Amino acid sequence: MTVLALAAGFLALGLILRLPGRVLAAGLAALWLAALLASALLPEGGALRAAAGGDWRAWAAAGLVAGVVVLYRAGLGRLKARARPVPPAAKAPAPFSATELDRYARHIVLREVGGQGQKRLKAARVLVVGAGGLGSPALLYLAAAGVGTIGVIDDDDVSNSNLQRQIIHTDTRIGQPKVASAAVAMQALNPFVTVDTWQERLDEGRAAALFPAYDLILDGSDNFDTRYLVNRAAVAAGKPLVAAAITQWEGQIGLYHPAGGGPCYECLFPERPEPGLAPSCAEAGVIAPLPGVVGSMMALEAVKHLTGAGETLKGRLLIYDGLWGETRIIAAARRPGCAACGGPHAGGVLDSAGDGA
Ligand SMILES: [Zn+2]
Repeated sequence: MTVLALAAGFLALGLILRLPGRVLAAGLAALWLAALLASALLPEGGALRAAAGGDWRAWAAAGLVAGVVVLYRAGLGRLKARARPVPPAAKAPAPFSATELDRYARHIVLREVGGQGQKRLKAARVLVVGAGGLGSPALLYLAAAGVGTIGVIDDDDVSNSNLQRQIIHTDTRIGQPKVASAAVAMQALNPFVTVDTWQERLDEGRAAALFPAYDLILDGSDNFDTRYLVNRAAVAAGKPLVAAAITQWEGQIGLYHPAGGGPCYECLFPERPEPGLAPSCAEAGVIAPLPGVVGSMMALEAVKHLTGAGETLKGRLLIYDGLWGETRIIAAARRPGCAACGGPHAGGVLDSAGDGA
């Protein structure tokens, strides 16, 4: 009984101090061994042997049972690990050259990224819709971060008035297709990434064909038609979507992923604004560094989603007010009856499938 009381006390203390399971197990095993030896080796009638229970056979039997349980659980854990799906990075091993290791060294020393996270980035395929204000920093940072394959779709050409904020383009590339100009800048920054370009306006058919080939979609488009189209296509393809928008001094960004338990863009914005009510950047104006802030946040969310670092903006809408230097976060959930994703309980996607964010 004394030994059992000791064990219970040790367990309670260990749980309060949050000792690792391995330490707790080692402590209990040591206690068991001491009780077994005391019961077997100490002279009969001694106080210590009495305290240990007196019968070594009972301790040996208890040890045998505990051993069988531990072995069974270890075997079960190994089977489970074997049955678990292999993460994408493990499927396609991506060895790095010495130059790449040096280039990504400041990622690799980050505990949340490390070599494993950098491999995931290299194996990842990200599609960016729009090579404008938001696309500029997003594309540059995705390339700099070492995202292996970056797709970009845009039908526009670089114009003089873009250059006040669309910093992926240059004065000498005015008149060139934006996707070509963006590709030149990305490859100049990081020749170790692959850039796929589509010089066309995204429509339903193209989205349905393109989205399944990517792991993550970034929407930096500047109009509501494209924004709603991108959301529907991302929902249909089961792909996570980082969508952002900016006007004047304010921007917003969220990560939408119904297949991962989060809401979609239409869960938050079921009603598309009347034409004219939401003026474009050309009409309302936009301050130069604002797309730099919000577009960089898009790249950051992408890196977090791909590496598993931290907590993404899934289920949260971040609103940044540059004029007053304020940031607000609004919690968002799937909306019952959402026209795009069906809301909670739709399509076999369980509420509990997500991380509850
Ligand atoms: Zn929805």
